[in-house]
Amino acid sequence: MAKWPISRIRFEIARLDKITGLNGQSLEIRIGKATQTLGSFESEKGKPKRFRFSAHFFESDDFSHAAAIDTIRHEYSHYMVLMTYGRHPGGAHGNAWKKCCRRVGARPERCYSEEWNQEMLSREKEIIENWEYQPREKKEE
Ligand SMILES: [Zn+2]
Repeated sequence: MAKWPISRIRFEIARLDKITGLNGQSLEIRIGKATQTLGSFESEKGKPKRFRFSAHFFESDDFSHAAAIDTIRHEYSHYMVLMTYGRHPGGAHGNAWKKCCRRVGARPERCYSEEWNQEMLSREKEIIENWEYQPREKKEE
């Protein structure tokens, strides 16, 4: 089973839509095999078109949940800039984009950081382990 089926990605986008009031969840989402790009947002003639994400990363065990969520939010921020400002003022990863990133909880960083991914990955394992060994609270009857 895919770690990140389109429905799961769309679910995160829908969550962001609740913050922004936009309708990113209505856009097409494609999963591709790019190995150099984590994701992208495409527009045509000033209109939003689709999101693309790379299965190469998203389906890898070395790609943290946090990095996947951050990638979705990163691309969503590009969509948000287009919808809010029409174009990309100050460049694709300029101040307008950074502002949008902060709003939806993306790292306002242009580049993917493998160091950060690894840090998130190590914590992720910790969280899962803790969760596995935690006794469940007894439900009162
Ligand atoms: Zn970008």
